[in-house]
Amino acid sequence: MVRSSRDKNYLSQNTPQTVLEKIFGFQTFRKPQKEIITQILNGHDVFVLMPTGGGKSICYQIPALILPGTAIIVSPLISLMENQVHALKQLGVASEYLNSSLSYQQIGTIETAIPKGDIKILYVTPERLLTTRFQKLISTTKISLVAIDEAHCISQWGHDFRPEYLNLTNFIHTIPKVPIIALTATAVFSTQSEIIEKLQLIDPKVFISSYDRPNVHYKVVLKQNVKKQLYDFLTADHSDDSGIIYCLSRKKVEGIADWLCQKGYNALPYHAGLDDAVRRNNQLRFLREESIIIVATIAFGMGIDKPNVRFVAHLDLPKSMENYYQETGRAGRDGLKSNAWLAYSLSDIILNRRIIQEGDSEVKLKIREFNKLDALLAFCESHHCRRKVLLNYFNEDYPTNCQNCDICDHPVQTYDATTQAQKALSCVYRAGQRFGVGHLVNILSGKITRQVEKYNHDKLSTFAIGEDLGEIEWKSIFRQLLINGYLTVNIDEYGILQLTQKSKAVLNGKEPILLKHEHRSTSIKPRGNKSKYFKDSEKQDLFELLRKLRKDIAGEQQVPPYIIFSDRTLIELVEIQPQSLGEMINITGIGNSKLERYGTDFLEVLKQ
Ligand code: ADP
Ligand code: ZN
Repeated sequence: MVRSSRDKNYLSQNTPQTVLEKIFGFQTFRKPQKEIITQILNGHDVFVLMPTGGGKSICYQIPALILPGTAIIVSPLISLMENQVHALKQLGVASEYLNSSLSYQQIGTIETAIPKGDIKILYVTPERLLTTRFQKLISTTKISLVAIDEAHCISQWGHDFRPEYLNLTNFIHTIPKVPIIALTATAVFSTQSEIIEKLQLIDPKVFISSYDRPNVHYKVVLKQNVKKQLYDFLTADHSDDSGIIYCLSRKKVEGIADWLCQKGYNALPYHAGLDDAVRRNNQLRFLREESIIIVATIAFGMGIDKPNVRFVAHLDLPKSMENYYQETGRAGRDGLKSNAWLAYSLSDIILNRRIIQEGDSEVKLKIREFNKLDALLAFCESHHCRRKVLLNYFNEDYPTNCQNCDICDHPVQTYDATTQAQKALSCVYRAGQRFGVGHLVNILSGKITRQVEKYNHDKLSTFAIGEDLGEIEWKSIFRQLLINGYLTVNIDEYGILQLTQKSKAVLNGKEPILLKHEHRSTSIKPRGNKSKYFKDSEKQDLFELLRKLRKDIAGEQQVPPYIIFSDRTLIELVEIQPQSLGEMINITGIGNSKLERYGTDFLEVLKQ
């Protein structure tokens, strides 16, 4: 194989399989990759919906290396395209990006190289693509294919809408017949057809992968002492890992990040209120460092393709299932075991309702937002396998139980709670449907508080009829009644619970109620999803040595460590312990270029 970038079609004689092995160092294609590549090589337009970490990039990168000409990859995210180009350069592929982060001189050099065909894969932002300057440049360049990454940005309904995406279509269709590939990890059915239509894909081959992320373990806990719960979760499973913690408010982000630092973690805040430079620096550090935690509002996420994020924790409810899926999707892109952990409480539900209610959306949109919140709550309160509920939400069937979620770990115990529900609902009624859950629980528990005295609620027939249960149990009952529609939150006054149509049947004894017992999170057993990939301490030590070498090399080159080798590659090196370069080439993620660059150094450590 000739590997000079001057040789314009340097891989045209290769099959996708040989490119996969020699360049990427992978032995086998994942499920639809090969077929997608074949379709592109045959000149077809393609639509690819694949979950995060599914392996979308290879689908256009391999055809780009085989077809004559330059591939244009449109991507909205500067950090993402930079990472891709760094990674491709490590593989010895002639690749560049054009975006606003480059100097005038750098742009000049790249612009000179493009028409000569010296660049096989060129990443551009949509803004740049649409400039006359760029279009002129392209008119004299042979183009092999056009890939539109994050293609859902063309959808006006999504939260990632980019107006420039709408203008891509005209331009890409001026390029003489090249395959167009639209790729996304987030598209519900309605956006799929919208993307295909707006990009005017011609008779596209459509590839829809399952949304399932089998390596992600889902767990939902009830908030009690959330800091302690988080701390237990981290010490049990993630003492040495990188992860993302989402909170709703900037203040909380700062608070949690500070507190984690005091506890000895390497944690950084990220939210829209931070100075631009600080925010960028924190994001960069997250990408480049190991064992680092970012505490963020949802402003953080797009463009985070760090593959070894081992956990995503939510300390507040996300807005919808879509958000939850997207945010937790940042865990475990490398396919290794990862955790999605969410803590929530009754007051979160009330707060989220209030946020929707007080927002400026029109009524129709608000209803939609309420429905989305309800779907998320149903997921949180589910008695069934979380993965099943999650995938069902995206219209996917998941026939068995996953054995990789908290419900599968500890099946939910339900009990007949008809009497308790009646007590709770009639307490709401007797107190005049004017109070929040705290006061109602005090009445049921027979607690004399100032408010109870003020309203003479110790005289109510429901006073002290619930002394058999504790505060946690009663709150759980109220929460479940709320989520299941037997109670509603007054929309004008904060946190006030009221009866609904459905409550009547329960009060009249016509409808039995089944509720679930809460698991009390007294002792947390580690799930064993630690970054300590090996039980054997010798192997773990070797892994640490390799990791150290990787970090040093990455530091020298100022790239994230995973661009040098993925965790998976290091794990295989430890497991297989190759003793020669010839043996090393069989390791996942080691192709010709990386073998040449790093083989000897890593071999040295392995031999020691
Ligand atoms: P996506 O863009 O779909 O989120 P990527 O293209 O970044 O995913 O791929 C996710 C990870 O999977 C990367 O680390 C990539 O190198 C790896 N990967 C992709 N295809 C394969 C394959 N056939 N064999 C092994 N690893 C793969
Ligand atoms: Zn499950």
